[in-house]
Amino acid sequence: MKNVYACPHCQTVLNPSVKILLVVRYKKHRGMILLSPQPGNFKFICDSDLRESLHHGALLSFSCPVCSKELVSDQDDKFAELSILTPGKKNRRVEFSREFGKEATFIIDGENIATFGSDVDEYSGKNFFGS
Ligand SMILES: [Zn+2]
Repeated sequence: MKNVYACPHCQTVLNPSVKILLVVRYKKHRGMILLSPQPGNFKFICDSDLRESLHHGALLSFSCPVCSKELVSDQDDKFAELSILTPGKKNRRVEFSREFGKEATFIIDGENIATFGSDVDEYSGKNFFGS
């Protein structure tokens, strides 16, 4: 089943088609970025000026294209956060690393955490449930 991603602030669906559309900012560069809705797929599309400004470890800021709020995790400000809507079920949360080149995504459903990406082991002690 297709995951529906939404802004945790205004609940706008961020993947009305297939890819997740966000605003991304790094230093003075700002643009749109398309992310894969498939957890663990870290391919993305953004404009070439922005792409060229990025280097490994660059800390990106993601924001909602509708309400402009920053999509930053409450648990760790190095992570971005989106909601995943599932009809008839409690919303889940996805957290992904804001560091360019860092492949770490967590999907949290309140009881369980699913992890995706080659860098998740770095975060194995992390508490994404909050305390
Ligand atoms: Zn929003």
